[in-house]
Amino acid sequence: MGVDPNCIFCKIVAGQIPSRKVHEDDELLVFHDIAPWAPVHVLIVPKEHIVSMYDTDAAAHAPLMGRMMALAPQLMRQLGVHNGFRIVVNTGQDGGQEVGHLHMHVMGGPRPWAKG
Ligand code: 5GP
Ligand code: ZN
Repeated sequence: MGVDPNCIFCKIVAGQIPSRKVHEDDELLVFHDIAPWAPVHVLIVPKEHIVSMYDTDAAAHAPLMGRMMALAPQLMRQLGVHNGFRIVVNTGQDGGQEVGHLHMHVMGGPRPWAKG
């Protein structure tokens, strides 16, 4: 599985940087965002180092991306979010992506939110 030793999310996946974990399975890790925009704000992260959604390949990664998307409502139910949520995948420089390891933001909880 691809890993970038300088990548902050690869370090979180490896347990070298602590995180508040919500879910872990063979392909995905989910943890709370360190600077949340909403009362509940988690990041769904593939364990494999994939730089961004732009770097995915439909044939190779559609199942992984499907699992990420399908996990979101399960996580929100588990975290007590029952009144709606938002999914964001910032992609590349113009997409506002700051961490170069594919991740899906899932945000919910009562408004107002800090951003968005
Ligand atoms: P991006 O702008 O790349 O879509 O989002 C990166 C997100 O990762 C940001 O919301 C930021 O708060 C979060 N983040 C960056 N570094 C860390 C960290 O070390 N731990 C956690 N839990 N979140 C982080
Ligand atoms: Zn990485």
